Formats: sequence, structure tokens, C-alpha cells
Amino acid sequence: MICNYSLNKLNTFNIKNNAIKIIKVKNLKQLCQIWKKYKKKKLPCLILGKGSNVLFLNNFYGLVVINKIKGIHINESSKYWNLHINSGENWHKLVKNTIKNKIYGLENLALIPGSVGSAPIQNIGAYGSSIKDFCQYVDIINPINQKIQRINKKKCKFKYRDSIFKHDDYKNHIIISIGLSLSKKWIPNLNYKDLKKLRTNVNITPQQIFNYICNIRKKKIPNPKIYGNAGSFFKNPFISSKLGLKLLKIYPQIPIFIENNKLKLSAGWLINQCKFKGYIQNGVMVHSKQALIILNKSNNATGMDILKLAIKIYNTVGIKFDIWLEPEVKIINSYGEVNPSFFFKKIKN
Ligand SMILES: Cc1cc2nc3c(=O)[nH]c(=O)nc-3n(C[C@H](O)[C@H](O)[C@H](O)COP(=O)(O)OP(=O)(O)OC[C@H]3O[C@@H](n4cnc5c(N)ncnc54)[C@H](O)[C@@H]3O)c2cc1C
Repeated sequence: MICNYSLNKLNTFNIKNNAIKIIKVKNLKQLCQIWKKYKKKKLPCLILGKGSNVLFLNNFYGLVVINKIKGIHINESSKYWNLHINSGENWHKLVKNTIKNKIYGLENLALIPGSVGSAPIQNIGAYGSSIKDFCQYVDIINPINQKIQRINKKKCKFKYRDSIFKHDDYKNHIIISIGLSLSKKWIPNLNYKDLKKLRTNVNITPQQIFNYICNIRKKKIPNPKIYGNAGSFFKNPFISSKLGLKLLKIYPQIPIFIENNKLKLSAGWLINQCKFKGYIQNGVMVHSKQALIILNKSNNATGMDILKLAIKIYNTVGIKFDIWLEPEVKIINSYGEVNPSFFFKKIKN
């Protein structure tokens, strides 16, 4: 079969691979029909929102569905705005429009690329907030038997960059909509260190927080249209208190945070300690301002070039600190998602 549909503009790493077929779907019926048709042909199927969390290694020998299923329904109770949002909506536009319509709470999650449907998968988060703070349910469909299920908040098992949707039981399902609840009594969330400056303003508005965060993000994170990237390549690791104490003695400035009674360490700091900031290999660069971001600097690199640098970072950090980073980005080969442990293997000393 010919593989000549370009994925180049459909992934933010700007990788120039192709797929056998790419189809934009606007409703559930169309999605299920096309999915079943390609599954019958024994071809792999992949759904994408904005392609901002995937790394294509090769051409994809199957169907890529681009989710354009749109629609937002809002109702209110005395205390909350309840939003039911279809998964093909754009996340940032949702944040912007809620604020415009005086529905507040999502401002800390401004400018995170991607679709609404992908947002719960890794529990998107930034600036001290994450989707789990608002998400009440996630609706999913099995495109083969068309069975729809509502997964309530508790069952979503949201954690740092993780949820039940990342795991095997739900991998054959497609997220079709989500439910968010936003309190009518707005309280600014300024706990995150980068928002410290705003704390002195007692009259701060959600719009001001939104603008401030958009400005910081634009300065810190390169626009993928200029240099391909997928935001943070690795997750921040959790470490044992024993290792935390040991590291604190050697590096008193080490950025360790406490989250849910666990110690979380900045992966960017670890990568920086290994002198990777600004490092270039085969047109792929570790961002000079934020070591967690890997850039397709030449916009000509292959997925393999990016993966090779990521593995080098993983091994170097692992050997130096005995901390083995976990990729946040999904790695996709010709047939679908690959378990990262296939490429990222702990080296035993
Ligand atoms: C510049 C930049 C900055 C970023 N900053 C942040 C940040 O601050 N915080 C953060 O958490 N993330 C961040 N990210 C990562 C990314 O924005 C999120 O992971 C986002 O949710 C991905 O959405 P997407 O629609 O692009 O997903 P895609 O890349 O299209 O898909 C990601 C995965 O989800 C699957 N998928 C997509 N849609 C569905 C669906 N409807 N049902 C089931 N599976 C589906 C895909 O098959 C794929 O496996 C950043 C990325 C970039 C490029």
C-alpha cells in the first residue's frame, strides 16, 4: 500500500513522515465507520488531536484520524458552571473563551497546545493547576462496538501526567467528550513560584493571570511552528526520601518539591547538570533556556534523530544520578504506540 499522506503539519515535532491515509472526522458516526473499515483491513488506526505529544519514528502504515468533533454545552447550578465539551475542540481556545464569557478557573492552563480529548490522558498541567482540578467525567467510545461509557473523576485515576487512559485497558477507546465544573466563586491560584509577582495584586483578574502566563510561556517555550518540539520530553521524576537527602547534601540548591507526600525533582535541572543545555546532535538540540525541551532545530531531523538524543540524555542522567527519566511524549512507530521501555533501558552499574 502507498504511504503518501504527509504527517508533517500534523505533529508539532514537524517530522516528515507519511501515513497510508489521513482523515479529518467531524462526528462520531464518521469516526466509527472509518475506524472499523481500516481495522477490517487489519491496518493500525491512530487518533490525533493536534499531534503535540507524539514522536513519529517512521511512516505510519495505517489510518490516522484527525479529531474535529466539536461542540460545547454549558449549564449552570447555583455554585458551578458545568461544561460538556467534545473532544475535537482546541484546549487553548476553550480556556480563552471561557474567560471571555466570565467563566473562570482555567487561566493557569493557558497556551497548552492540543485538543480537549487529549487533555485528560496525561492530566495536562501547568503553573500549579491541572485538568484533574476541574474534570468531573470523561466519555469514551469503543469504535468497534460503538459502546459509550462515562468514566467518573475518581475512576480516571488522575495523577501527575498520568491517568487511566494511558494504560492498556483504555487504549482501544477514544475520548469523545469531557465534563468540567468551574466554581462561580473564583479564587486566584497563585501558589506556583513563577506567579509570585502577582500575589501582591489583591484585585488580580483571571484575564491578567491568563495574559501573564501566555507571556511567560511565549518567552520560555519555542513556538513549534518555528522549531519543532513537543514541550517537555521527560516527566519530572519522583524520588525516595533517602535519595533526596543524599542529593541535598551534594547539591544544596537542588529543586526538590513535595507533591502528594512524595519528593519530586526537576528533570530539567538534572539534564542541565549533565551539561546538555544547547547541545546539538544531527540537527536536534536541547533547548538553551529549558533543558526539558528537545527541539527539531533544523526542522529536518527524523524521529529517530530525536529519539537518539533523548536516549543519550536518559543514559547520561541515569548514570550520573541513578535516576531514570520517563518520557512524557508518546513514541509511535509504523504500527502504533511503542512502550518507551523498549528504547529507554536502565543501565545496571
Ligand atoms: C509547545 C508545547 C508545550 C506544551 N506544554 C505542556 C504543558 O505545559 N503541560 C502539559 O501537560 N502538556 C504540555 N504539552 C504537551 C501537549 O500539549 C499535551 O500532551 C496535549 O494534551 C496533547 O494534545 P494533542 O491533541 O496534541 O495530542 P496528540 O499529540 O494528538 O495525541 C497524544 C496521544 O493521545 C492520543 N489521543 C489523541 N486524541 C485522543 C482521543 N480523543 N481519544 C483517545 N486518545 C487520543 C493519541 O493517539 C496520542 O497517543 C506541550 C506540548 C507542546 C508542543
